[in-house]
Amino acid sequence: MYIKHTLNKRLSTFKGMCFPYKKKSSTTFRYEAVVGVGGNIGDVKRRFNHLFYELKTYARVELLETSLILKNPPFGFKTQDDFFNSIIVLKTNMQAHTFLNYLLRVEKKFGRRRSFANAPRTLDLDIIFFDSKIINTKKLTVPHPFWSKRESVVIPLSSLNR
Ligand code: AMP
Repeated sequence: MYIKHTLNKRLSTFKGMCFPYKKKSSTTFRYEAVVGVGGNIGDVKRRFNHLFYELKTYARVELLETSLILKNPPFGFKTQDDFFNSIIVLKTNMQAHTFLNYLLRVEKKFGRRRSFANAPRTLDLDIIFFDSKIINTKKLTVPHPFWSKRESVVIPLSSLNR
């Protein structure tokens, strides 16, 4: 069950059991990762709930907080369904590249097939921030290069309770 709130003609937000969410205390995992979550195929909000429990039950991450969900139009390839986006804040002892590989495995588990840039997707996971680290390798750019220009990141991020 989600409660919908219409912001304007293009944007609406959804609040449910797992989004937004905030854990009361936190463990001693070393790094804090801010992860952008998105999708636009099938029942995305239901998939986000499954993702929530997947992350919550995995011992190598601690799920600290989730934002509300934003429904927003696609950019790039425009003739596809609107996207649902959220932000998840996690703690982990994994290094950034190991954490990225973990997220790629989770995407795969949730049915992600890579086709072309900006294509429709079941689940997209992006590392927006990884602690205060700046990373520029072939596989990973952190902070995520476009985060501040995307309402799909900025609006959920600004809704976080911190
Ligand atoms: P995408 O199709 O947008 O999901 O791109 C996925 C690929 O982008 C991954 O295989 C990563 O190697 C690369 N990548 C670079 N920077 C990041 C980041 N900050 N978060 C997630 N993936 C990244």
